[in-house]
Amino acid sequence: MEELRAKLPAWVEASRALANEGQVASYIPELAKAPREALGITIMGRDGSTVSAGETELRFTMQSISKVFTLLLALIDNGEKGVFAKVGMEPTGDDFNSMLKLELVEPGKPFNPLINAGAIAISSLIRGSSPADKVARILSFFGEAAGVQAGGSLSVNGEVYRSESATAHRNRSLAYFLKDNEVLGEEIDVEDVLSVYFQHCSVEITCGQLARMALVLALGGADPVSGRQLIPRRYVRIAKAFMLMCGMYNASGEFAIQVGIPAKSGVSGGILALVPGRYGIGVIGPALGPKGNSTAGVHLLETISASLDWSIF
Ligand code: GLU
Repeated sequence: MEELRAKLPAWVEASRALANEGQVASYIPELAKAPREALGITIMGRDGSTVSAGETELRFTMQSISKVFTLLLALIDNGEKGVFAKVGMEPTGDDFNSMLKLELVEPGKPFNPLINAGAIAISSLIRGSSPADKVARILSFFGEAAGVQAGGSLSVNGEVYRSESATAHRNRSLAYFLKDNEVLGEEIDVEDVLSVYFQHCSVEITCGQLARMALVLALGGADPVSGRQLIPRRYVRIAKAFMLMCGMYNASGEFAIQVGIPAKSGVSGGILALVPGRYGIGVIGPALGPKGNSTAGVHLLETISASLDWSIF
């Protein structure tokens, strides 16, 4: 931690220049308001101590990062058999919102739970009596991992949620396609599922909270403070395998080679990453490269991993 504390500010400043090579996502209109040149990181050690640098006070929405934790909640709610009846275990090599391979393998069954079609199918598996009840369960599950104190909670950014819902023609068509293929069953209302999906993508978070969520995964599902097992170890292993295979969109292979740790990014420019058994990491850098990952954030993680020998390989 001492070396990190000493070097992190300079590494952040060196990586910040990379933001100029990226663009803030604008297909969800509300996301276009994010500060392009921002870069922040929090790293949390296994004892819960943190090192931070850059704009870590920034609040941003989790977007696709949330898919890792809805997958975990769906596994808790349904078990592996229930989840993998609806989604596969393979990377696609296509864009996150692609329809291309939905007719391959088993008709309509998305290749994995981190692409949009897969995550929408996963949203339908979250238990609850209504979309509001499901979102409340999601917020409390995310909040527990994020270390939100009792009484407080994470919340959905309503502007981002409404902005996405109003413009999500492609996600809507993916969901109706899943319905047509009975991945979303007879009893399921497509708009209800989409509402849960858009809301969990719009959960607002900070780098520090993201780092703590990542640390829970780094510790195999255990709470870093109480030691309590929040998530079964086996499910955390499944989530980390998906993060490594397809957490960084179509740059997941390159990220595995250059950084070498499980990570998941989102279109808001957030990245959740972890060094198994050691660190949980939260990064924000809203400017995205052509493959949808934060340009400055990825450069920063490359720098740290190379300097501190973080790769798991
Ligand atoms: N809510 C976003 C969408 O469905 C998430 C995309 C992402 O972060 O990859 O388009």
